[in-house]
Amino acid sequence: MKGIVLRGLRAAGEILLPRQCITCGQRLLLEEKHLCLECLADLPQTYFWTMSHNPMADKFNEVIQKTLEEGGSPGNDCATNTSDAAEDSRHEHYAYASALFFYHSEAQYRLIPYQIKYHGNIRAGRYFGRMLGNRLASSELFEDVDMVVPVPLHWTRKWKRGYNQAEVIAGAVAEVLGVPMRTDLLKRRKRTVTQTKMNVEDKRKNVAEAFVSIPSLAGIASENGIRHLLLIDDVFTTGSTLMACFTALRTVFPPSVRISVATLGFVGGR
Ligand SMILES: [Zn+2]
Repeated sequence: MKGIVLRGLRAAGEILLPRQCITCGQRLLLEEKHLCLECLADLPQTYFWTMSHNPMADKFNEVIQKTLEEGGSPGNDCATNTSDAAEDSRHEHYAYASALFFYHSEAQYRLIPYQIKYHGNIRAGRYFGRMLGNRLASSELFEDVDMVVPVPLHWTRKWKRGYNQAEVIAGAVAEVLGVPMRTDLLKRRKRTVTQTKMNVEDKRKNVAEAFVSIPSLAGIASENGIRHLLLIDDVFTTGSTLMACFTALRTVFPPSVRISVATLGFVGGR
């Protein structure tokens, strides 16, 4: 009986406030959530969770290597790293990386992260976060993840937007994986300027110093037997934002702790 009433209420809600498919705009059926069945079936999934080496992981590990060779980090301990960056890099775990779908700039699927980030569609954030979480949960690469950390927003931006989209996604992923999410280990210390018109190198410099880890808190987490940490953002473009977070976390977590990354969208072709 209760089910019938709820269904009736939902149907009435549909008439007053019709829900639309995020990507094609078509009116959704009662059973459909955020995407119509056709768009859901056509979602350009990456299947990166089934392969340790994939375009996203290769790109991210390349950025790690580059940073190591420059000697600045991980560890931010220039004195030891510059002398023998190659030696250090051998101790660095290969970071696993996975995204739920390909994010072609011209394709309608870019509207998913856009809706979550700019239109307050938190429900969609949780929905696609859970979908990502389910893919990661099915993967042996991510089976030993014991903590999820979202890329933080600067507090003024979070205050204005009311939420951090990476945190919404990360919360859903953590729930599916059955591990804690920690939002207190990383802090964004300066507001980065809008990056849309910058080249890759400028973008990297713009965010490189933007994150710090909170040593006291992360230190405790580190001592609690954390082996595999998963960083979450909404979209992976150049990897510079995630790399800046990686670097900040590495100042506290030793290289024996694997730091992997996962996002909803991956910018790149199939
Ligand atoms: Zn659709």
